[in-house]
Amino acid sequence: MERVTIGEVEPADFGDGVDRRRLSDPLGATGLAVVHYRIPPDEGFPSGLHAHGDQAEIFVVLDGEATFETLAPERDDADEITLTEGEAVRFAPGEYQSGRNDADCDLVALALGAPRDSDDVRIPLDCPECGHDYLRPEADEDGPLLVCPDCGTANVPGGCPDCGTEMRVTLGESDAAASDSPSEDPETLVVCPDCGTEAESPFGT
Ligand SMILES: [Zn+2]
Ligand SMILES: [Zn+2]
Repeated sequence: MERVTIGEVEPADFGDGVDRRRLSDPLGATGLAVVHYRIPPDEGFPSGLHAHGDQAEIFVVLDGEATFETLAPERDDADEITLTEGEAVRFAPGEYQSGRNDADCDLVALALGAPRDSDDVRIPLDCPECGHDYLRPEADEDGPLLVCPDCGTANVPGGCPDCGTEMRVTLGESDAAASDSPSEDPETLVVCPDCGTEAESPFGT
């Protein structure tokens, strides 16, 4: 048996005011990622819209509200859901999601991922070279890359044109509110998490 007091686990501080405590190691959980979050208003779970091809993710809301925008694996259907205290959601492998705190009090949630490690993270952006429908975030010494799993091109995303911060993928406004035009696939945008600048693509087109 391994027992943990969450308040005594050292938080991983990324400077965004989000309190994230990884419980897998203290609990000796080798097959399950367990992260406890306290997220202030207007902040979110890390990373923008993404999926894991090789991992299911479960979020359990312990306090406050969590709002998730979701995008089907084929990128042909979008939705937005809000969970309150006592609710949980599971995202299957391949389903895109991005969670944030739109309420005016802190969000406290547990994020569970199984298996623990994911090597197949997917960002819903078309490859500028071959058009493949998702890219894989990687990094080299010069910074972030978005690598195409199909043609192998390492695409270099530009930072925010206004402040240089790494952009995140999100859904267009109408899509996040569940668009009523079934003939059109949801649009993705890239948005700067710091200053809110939006662009159609991180590749400067
Ligand atoms: Zn490609
Ligand atoms: Zn910016």
